[in-house]
Amino acid sequence: MHQHANIKKAIQLSNSFWDITTQAGMANIVTRNLGDGRHEAVANGKRFVNMSSYSYLGLDSHPDILQAAADAVLNTGSLNTSISRIRVQFDILQQAEDALAELVDAETLTVPSCAAAAAAALPLLASGALTEDVPPLMVFDKNAHFCLNMMKPICADEAEIHTIRHNDLNALEDLCKTHARVAYVADGVYSTGGMAPVPELLALQDKYGLFLFFDEAHGLSTLGRHGRGLVLETMGGINERTLIVTSLNKGFGASGGAIFLGPRHDAERRKLATRFGGPVTWSQRINTAGLGAIIQSAAIHRSEELPRLQQRLQDNIRLFDQHVASDNSGEPLPIRFVSIGSEENTIFYAKSLLEDGFYTSPIFFPVIAKGRAGLRIMIRANMSTQEIERFAACLNQLRAAHE
Ligand SMILES: *Cc1c(COP(=O)(O)O)cnc(C)c1O
Repeated sequence: MHQHANIKKAIQLSNSFWDITTQAGMANIVTRNLGDGRHEAVANGKRFVNMSSYSYLGLDSHPDILQAAADAVLNTGSLNTSISRIRVQFDILQQAEDALAELVDAETLTVPSCAAAAAAALPLLASGALTEDVPPLMVFDKNAHFCLNMMKPICADEAEIHTIRHNDLNALEDLCKTHARVAYVADGVYSTGGMAPVPELLALQDKYGLFLFFDEAHGLSTLGRHGRGLVLETMGGINERTLIVTSLNKGFGASGGAIFLGPRHDAERRKLATRFGGPVTWSQRINTAGLGAIIQSAAIHRSEELPRLQQRLQDNIRLFDQHVASDNSGEPLPIRFVSIGSEENTIFYAKSLLEDGFYTSPIFFPVIAKGRAGLRIMIRANMSTQEIERFAACLNQLRAAHE
C-alpha cells in the first residue's frame, strides 16, 4: 500500500490549509461575472480583479467565442448526444477536433477535461500500446500535476513506475541506459512556475527512443506559433514518440481538454484511444457550447489576433516584473510566485489585497514547503496597465510596512 498514492495523508496534511484559507474569506467566494477577469462578490457587492486567473489571453471573455458557444447549442439543438461517441457523434465534434488538429498539426481527440485526457492516455501508455506492445518503464517527474500522479497506481498494474526529482535529466538518462523502453511523464509548463527542459528531453528521445508524455495545460495558447505551446514550439512538430494532453479551459478560453496523440492521420492511435481510452468512450464529451467555443477559439488562434494577444501578455508580464519582485521575474511564462514567508503574513496580505480590490491565491504548506508561503499570481493579456500598476502599489505598500 501507498507505493504511489496516499490520499489519506494528503487529507491529514492539507485540510488545515483549506480551513485557514476559508476562515480568512479567501475561499468559496461566490461572484457575478463582470468580464475581463473582474468580479462582484454576491455576499457584499465588493468588486475585485482576479489576479490568479488561468485565462492568460483573456479569451474567456472574448465576445466571438461566447457567441459561437451560444450559437452551437441552438444550431445543434442539443447539449450532447447521450451515447458513446464511438457509436454516434454530432458533426460539430468532428469539426472541433479537425480545427484543433489543423491548429497544432497533430492527431487530436477532445475530452471533458485535461484530467480526463490523462486518465484516458496514461493507462494506454502503460499497456505498451504506444511502444511496440512492450510496457515502458514509466518515469514521472516529482512535480508532475496531480492529474498525472493520481494515475500512477493504475499504470503500476501494467508497467513499472519510477519517480525522479524535478527536471532530473541525469537520473532519467541513467534509466534510459538500463531500460530498453522508457516513457517520461511531466508538465511542459509547471503550474507552480518553471518548465520542462524540452530540448534536452528531445536529445534523450533522439539518443534512446525515450517516449515523452507532456501536460501542456499552461503552455497551450500562451506560447508558440498559433499558441501550440512550449513543447510543440520547441519540437517544431509532434512525432510518434510524443503525446501531449492539455486543458482547453485555461489560455484557450473554451472548455474541456485535448489529447494530441501523435502525427496527424494516425488512424491506429485514434482507434485505440476511442476504443480503450476510458473517459473518451463514455457518455460525456465536451458539450456543443464548448465545441462551438473551441472552433471559434481555434480560428482566433490561427488569426493575427493571437500574436497580438501573446504580445500584450508579454508586455503585461514585463510591466508586472518592473514593479513587483517575484521568484519568477524575467520568465516568459505568465505565472509569478510572490514569496512572503509565514502563513499568517500570506493570509494577511491576501486579505488586504482583496480589500484593495485584487484577488490573489495564497499558497502555503503542504502545497509548498513550510515557511515558504506566498501568493500565486497569474498575469493576463486583458489586464489594464492601471490595474497592474495599482496592484503593484498596493502590494509594495504592504511589503514596505511588514518586511
Ligand atoms: C489545471 C491543470 C490541469 C487540469 O486541467 P482540467 O482541464 O481542469 O482537468 C492539468 N494539468 C495542469 C498542469 C494544470 O494546471
